[in-house]
Formats: sequence, C-alpha cells, structure tokens
Amino acid sequence: MGCQTFCCRLLVRLDPDERKFDNGGGMAKGFVDKTTDGYCVNLDRETHLCRTWARRSRTCRRYNCNSDFLLQVAVRHKFNNIVELARLAATVHIPKETYVQVAHTDE
Ligand code: SF4
Repeated sequence: MGCQTFCCRLLVRLDPDERKFDNGGGMAKGFVDKTTDGYCVNLDRETHLCRTWARRSRTCRRYNCNSDFLLQVAVRHKFNNIVELARLAATVHIPKETYVQVAHTDE
C-alpha cells in the first residue's frame, strides 16, 4: 500500500515485563533493536513481514498506523529517515477525511 513498512522504522518501547537482560548482566533493553538501515531487527527484508508477529510487543499490538498522522505524511512525501519525516510533518496539513487506510490484520 506504499507504507514501506513505516511502523517498523519507529522506536518500539517495551513494557517492563517484556524486557530481557543481555548475557552480560547489564541493564535490560527498553526498546526493540534497530539495524543500521533503521528498520526493526525482526522485520524480514524480503517479505516485509514481521518474523515475530505472534509474539510481538504490546507496543506493536496497540499501534494503529491508520490513525497516525506520520503515516499519512509518509505515504505522500519522500523522506530518508524518521527525523526528516517528523520535520516534514510539522509543515503539512492533511485533512482526516483524506487519510489513506493501509490494510492490516489485528491477529
Ligand atoms: S517487532 Fe515486528 S511489528 Fe514490531 S516493529 Fe518489529 S517488525 Fe514491526
């Protein structure tokens, strides 16, 4: 639908009980890791599907891209990274009645 897996480039905060300690016994990570291209480590780059869909975090489960203004900007304008997208979003107005709806499943 043109979203280019928008949400999987956002920062995904983990609830406290979802956090895991690393093997070194350091602090538990509060976020899902990203790779150097800015995408979530759980995103399959060929299928653009989540490899951990059935056990994804609550943040991922709660998120509805279709009500996120940033997605509406993302499907209309080119951007290179999330900071650029956020700056662009501050300069545009998109009426709610024209929002693009991306098909997805709530499973
Ligand atoms: S865990 Fe899955 S749904 Fe959540 S951001 Fe990563 S790839 Fe997307």
